[in-house]
Amino acid sequence: MIRFALKCACGHRFESWFRDNAACETLMASGQLNCPACGGSEVAKAPMAPFVASGQPDHDAELQDRDARVRAALLRLREAVEANSENVGADFAEEARKIHYGESPKRSIYGDATPDEAEALADEEIPFAQLPWVSRGHS
Ligand SMILES: [Zn+2]
Repeated sequence: MIRFALKCACGHRFESWFRDNAACETLMASGQLNCPACGGSEVAKAPMAPFVASGQPDHDAELQDRDARVRAALLRLREAVEANSENVGADFAEEARKIHYGESPKRSIYGDATPDEAEALADEEIPFAQLPWVSRGHS
């Protein structure tokens, strides 16, 4: 059995039990489902109250809390990278290539790369990782 919230053409809301979703659809399509308030047979499914997404403070707070935890973890990741690697800025791709081919001393670096540069590095099988970089301030 499955319960659906329903709404008639004039806006009355009611709930009804059905064997399954198909049974509900069949009854609606054949006009055998009537509004208990006005008897109208133009009935459609309405969203069940618990699934309405807007304005449920508990839910929002939980989401915000989770966002904040993810952000804090990413910020710690950024700080760890910055503390243990050299910032080569826009020269990242060039420097990563030099290190890979032994033209620069082996070390950890971080910096910026364009999508094209990143693709070229991947093509040359130069190991690098793209991190989700969060800003320190408000996003
Ligand atoms: Zn009605």
